[in-house]
Amino acid sequence: MGLPATARIDIGRFWTTIERSGEIGVGRPGGLSRLALGDADREVRDVFIAWCREAGLSVRIDGIGNIFARRPGEDDSLPPVVMGSHLDTQVNGGRFDGIAGVLGGLEVCRTLDQLGHRTKRPIEVVNWTNEEGGRFSPPMVGSGCFTGAYTLDWALGRRDDDGRTIGEELDRIGYRGEMEATPRPFDAYVEFHIEQGPILDREGMQVGVVTGGYASTGMLVEFRGETAHTGPWPMERRRNALIAGARLLVAVDDLGWEHAGSGGKATASRLVAWPNKPGILSDWAQATCDVRHADPETSAVMAERVRRAVHEAAARADCTAEILDVWNWGGKVFADELIEQVRATSLGLGYRTRDILSQAGHDAYFVARHAPTTMIFAPCRGGITHNNQELCTPDDLEPGLNVLLHTVVARANR
Ligand SMILES: [Zn+2]
Repeated sequence: MGLPATARIDIGRFWTTIERSGEIGVGRPGGLSRLALGDADREVRDVFIAWCREAGLSVRIDGIGNIFARRPGEDDSLPPVVMGSHLDTQVNGGRFDGIAGVLGGLEVCRTLDQLGHRTKRPIEVVNWTNEEGGRFSPPMVGSGCFTGAYTLDWALGRRDDDGRTIGEELDRIGYRGEMEATPRPFDAYVEFHIEQGPILDREGMQVGVVTGGYASTGMLVEFRGETAHTGPWPMERRRNALIAGARLLVAVDDLGWEHAGSGGKATASRLVAWPNKPGILSDWAQATCDVRHADPETSAVMAERVRRAVHEAAARADCTAEILDVWNWGGKVFADELIEQVRATSLGLGYRTRDILSQAGHDAYFVARHAPTTMIFAPCRGGITHNNQELCTPDDLEPGLNVLLHTVVARANR
């Protein structure tokens, strides 16, 4: 039997769960500072697992700390339909980014229990490790590892600014699991997430049908120069790596302004240097930047411009440059059948609905390489996010969660 069309998630119960999560890893007023694999991440993982067990879900943890909570299907040998996102936040993060997707998945399972509904296929809820990359670079390391984009050893060896690795921190907080962090079949993956942009809120839309993502390229660039005294050393002999990094990042920002008219974005996000002290020139710097555009061709042109800017910046500062890491995400990666199902479900439930492209990185992009995937967006006030002022009300999230419920159950019962 199918799920009754009148079935709805319990927004009050969901909200109590969101509020409890919002007490763990409190940051600036109203926000969270719950960096991956820190003590607060451990606490929210513990609480999440306790909730899952209370809801009758069985919990497994893999070698990179991804948590999978499973609700068996009538035919439990079939691959699961999976929901989820991430419980970690940026250093100045909000209470909803990622969290609404994980706890929303849990709420779907609780709703099915209350209705006594057993799906044909199993359903799982996942919390991916280190989605944000706010402590360990790169972001989306848990989903990247699970889908085979990164090897486990490489991922475990990523270091934070204090030199601690993901592997050490997983051991410290007790979340290096037994299950292998390798691809296993998913029937489908559906990620519910706040939009993290202003479009749905501005237009009074309740549900965003995510048809794909901005084509995006990120780069980690290293510059090497030479230390010297800041006083007597002649200008023409200076090889200041800090300046090479700074010139690159300003060029990237200029590129963003050049493409702003067509909605393009280019971001200078991070510059570190050594020794980075007064009185001495830095002989090492690393800069992180990215470009994003709805049009893949324009995005590729922008990425090429960044590569050129790397060499120009290095030449101007008489440094050497190496692009250490390049990552790409976005594009038309989601499954048409799932996009259509989300759209039809949302319209069928009577919600104000529009198609939308994601402009942020999400675990869904990695999972899409592995299984049919899509995303559902909910509005957040003014599009403010990665900021303690990030705000959603129950009214903002309830429609998207009901779309998640009906989409996932229809898929699991087909
Ligand atoms: Zn997120």
